[in-house]
Amino acid sequence: MALEDRRAKRLSLTAVAAEEENSLRNGRGLSDQWADGVAVRSRTTERHIAVHKRLVLGFAVSIVTLIAVTAVAVLLGVRFEECAGESASRAPNASSARANQSRDAHSSQRDEEAAQPWRQLRLPASLRPRHYDLRLAVYMDNFTFSGEVNIEFECVNATRFVVLHADGLRVDRAAVYSDSKKPGVLRVHRQFQYPANQVLVVALSRELKPLRTYKMNITFEAQIENELLGFFRSSYVMQGERRYLAVTQFSPIHARKAFPCFDEPVFKATFKVSLKHESAYLSLSNMPVEMSVLDEDEWVTDHFSRTPRMSTYYLAWAVCNFTYKESFTRSGVLIRLYARPDAIGRGYGDYALNITKRLLQFYEDYFKVKYSLPKLDLLAVPKHPYAAMENWGLSVFVEQKILLDPKVSSFSYLMELTMVVVHEICHQWFGDLVTPVWWEDVWLKEGFAHFFEYMGTDFLFPKWNMEKQRFLTDVLHEVMLLDGLASSHPISQQVYQATDIDRVFDWIAYKKGAALIRMLANVMGQPVFQRGLNDYLRTHMYGNAARDDLWNKFSEAMQKEGKYINIKEVMNGWTLQMGYPVVTIIRNDSLDHSVIISQEHFLYHPDARNRDPGLLNTSFQWQIPLTVSVGNYTHISPESIIWLSNKTELHKMSLMEEGTWLLGNINQTGYFRVNYDLHNWRLLLEQLMKNPEIISVGNRAGLIDDAFNLARAGYIPQNIPLEMICYLTQEREFLPWHAASRSLYQLDKLLDRSEEYSIFSDYVLKQVASMYHRLGWPTSPSNGSIMQAAYQTEELQREVIMLACSFGNKHCHNQAMALISDWISSNKNRIPPNVRDIVYCTGVSLMDEDVWEFIWMKFHSTTAISEKKVLLEALTCSGNTFLLNRLLNLSLSSDLVPEQDVIDVIIHVGRNPRGRPLAWRYFREKWDILNSRYGEALFMNAKLINGVTEFLNTESELNELKEFIEENEGEGVSALVRAVEIVEANVRWHRLFRQQFFQWLRKSPDS
Ligand SMILES: [Zn+2]
Repeated sequence: MALEDRRAKRLSLTAVAAEEENSLRNGRGLSDQWADGVAVRSRTTERHIAVHKRLVLGFAVSIVTLIAVTAVAVLLGVRFEECAGESASRAPNASSARANQSRDAHSSQRDEEAAQPWRQLRLPASLRPRHYDLRLAVYMDNFTFSGEVNIEFECVNATRFVVLHADGLRVDRAAVYSDSKKPGVLRVHRQFQYPANQVLVVALSRELKPLRTYKMNITFEAQIENELLGFFRSSYVMQGERRYLAVTQFSPIHARKAFPCFDEPVFKATFKVSLKHESAYLSLSNMPVEMSVLDEDEWVTDHFSRTPRMSTYYLAWAVCNFTYKESFTRSGVLIRLYARPDAIGRGYGDYALNITKRLLQFYEDYFKVKYSLPKLDLLAVPKHPYAAMENWGLSVFVEQKILLDPKVSSFSYLMELTMVVVHEICHQWFGDLVTPVWWEDVWLKEGFAHFFEYMGTDFLFPKWNMEKQRFLTDVLHEVMLLDGLASSHPISQQVYQATDIDRVFDWIAYKKGAALIRMLANVMGQPVFQRGLNDYLRTHMYGNAARDDLWNKFSEAMQKEGKYINIKEVMNGWTLQMGYPVVTIIRNDSLDHSVIISQEHFLYHPDARNRDPGLLNTSFQWQIPLTVSVGNYTHISPESIIWLSNKTELHKMSLMEEGTWLLGNINQTGYFRVNYDLHNWRLLLEQLMKNPEIISVGNRAGLIDDAFNLARAGYIPQNIPLEMICYLTQEREFLPWHAASRSLYQLDKLLDRSEEYSIFSDYVLKQVASMYHRLGWPTSPSNGSIMQAAYQTEELQREVIMLACSFGNKHCHNQAMALISDWISSNKNRIPPNVRDIVYCTGVSLMDEDVWEFIWMKFHSTTAISEKKVLLEALTCSGNTFLLNRLLNLSLSSDLVPEQDVIDVIIHVGRNPRGRPLAWRYFREKWDILNSRYGEALFMNAKLINGVTEFLNTESELNELKEFIEENEGEGVSALVRAVEIVEANVRWHRLFRQQFFQWLRKSPDS
């Protein structure tokens, strides 16, 4: 699954717990049968009281009777003893054994009943589904569907209860059949739904027996919902007419909204789906259509062939009236891209279809496992909760991540789209074929798919150099910002219930997962890593696997090479502990050629650690594969590896002389930061100024990112990163510029409302100026072949123009305004797609209201999806607060702005220094609406919360945030907890380091 925003969404744990308690208290929301069950308990209590009263009244009478009875009993006692002696001396006969057995069975039934398996957060392991036969009739006229499912399942442990998932379905009737020689219906004692755990319970009168298979038949019906989960609907307008489609999104726990099933990843089964729909529509599912039957009444039933063993959340179907384009891979797999007929007609799907064909081949070769299904459909839908979803054989994409108009799309749009496609195709193996056992290891599939976004894109476009370069800024640097907070969490985290599951789909799972896999791949070496993966996939195909299974395969692959590293032991430190280390390398003056290397947990706000007793008492320690080189002006030594496992270690370094510097984490393959003694920092700065190319591109970007972040957290003086960027005047490569601009925008957010801001912005402009003039602006729109464009030059040019325009370069501003004026006067857009976002935004922010209106009009009239988004974001750049408020209100209250873009509007208003107070206030005022709309399904809350709070940096703003959290009971919302820590770290930086920062800038000869 590729997330639009991959950060964690709100934790709704408390809400669900409360809901359960409520339904238990008043029976609301429970089926009648279950409400009866609850009522029985109170009746029983009343009866006990009544009985007790009668006992007291009858006590006196009983005393008299007792005397008489005792006399009789004494006489009879002799006879009783005789009988007892007789039976005790006899061997137990068959009938008494049966009686005992049935007593045991009854008591175990009572035990099971008392345990109430439907109250467990996970499904009981007593039953395992084998096959589902699912028949659905889809009514697009009133958005409902009805279904019948036949489930074949095996009994593992004897049980009287069939517990499976069903959520929001009206279940008519469930029948269970014995699948033995004498098939017959088993008597159902009672049937009820337990909504708190989204389960349907069928309690049978007799036990199901281990090792036997049974069948179950359930009929049901439900709505085709408007919310984007389960089986949902969406629409688009074509030739003035609104058309509807219906599609599924089952990951992670929404298959249960579409049919009763064992909805946990480990319950893999085969599926046979048939869909009945009006003949005006077509239907799709994971497998090809085996047979279509046309009814007399213009209805069609499509019967799809049987799937391989798979998890419920990868099942998918769709009913739509799209058209398609198709292609075949060399190995004969049919690939079709389905989309709105107008988009297909314009060829918007051609690019994705073309790369998918090449990618299937790439993965088949790399994984050495054939793609498992005869076909792969890519479905472009107008609305989807995520960027895309990797359903096996039927992957679903939101239009913006798969449709491309090469004439107007920027390079970054193309790159993002490419990577989403690469990601989803990788999942056909990592996810669909081998599925994580449980959601705590969701990073296993997401981390791999994210890592392979870079590997696969490198296969498609080797010149982009994604894995060696772009990975650093976009994955490593990005996630280290988040994972450097005390409110972070380990990548493998306990998941107990449904509401925990959404929490694990976050940047940590995707990006840290990918960064750890990359670190491991580099330690193992690519060929060994690949062999380990091949073995892992082949061993666990059509099944489930946990992280230890992977570690074992990797250890085995290493052993075959004669290398004995316990991968599990190493990786447990990285996956079970949160955060990452900062490694400090200090020259040992008392001993020649030696260094002291130490590790500690890196934190932006070290005080935050004190708040969490769990953290305070934990001593974080990692086994760190630290690669090092030494170098001087003209030469760098080959890297060597040091395994650092203690807090502090002394190491010999050969080749180290006076004047040579040390460099750690070569090419930034490791997931950690490196700090040095000040002398070494000084030597590295000199090296960058004199001859930067001695140090690799990856390390130049890494040094910049480490320096800015170490300074921000207070590990090194503030002037080191500022001095470092002086070398950029000589930097010809994109990556270091990209790393620098990311860090500068971070600082900008911290400073742009301070009085001395211009000292900072002038300093930045000075470093940018010469490169800006050297590179200039792109001429005319590219000739429609962005794939061929020289990625390095175009991206670097764009990065420098963006820096120049953002920090106030006059030439840049005039150029942007001239381009806008030309567009307005000629009504021809001659602005190169790659810089359109910069030009539009600069124009809107500096020019008058007419430009805003012009862009607003273009936003409505354009048909290109990528262009629409760029225009919308440009509208947020205005300095006019009236217009910004108008935009905020329009975006939430009308359908002018697509639902998935509303959050981006608010965040972009927040990025505009003039809009910050508006976005922050708007967010608080509309929290209830935003939270109900985006809190549950879209993982968007975290992105929104971060977007409107990350620039807060005063004590009073911190208090506003804390008050907001208190008033809205947001203490448990992880994104809000994180927001507090980020704002606290901002406040701390201002308190401790701002003065030092500006002091240096004021004295700097460069400013
Ligand atoms: Zn994914």
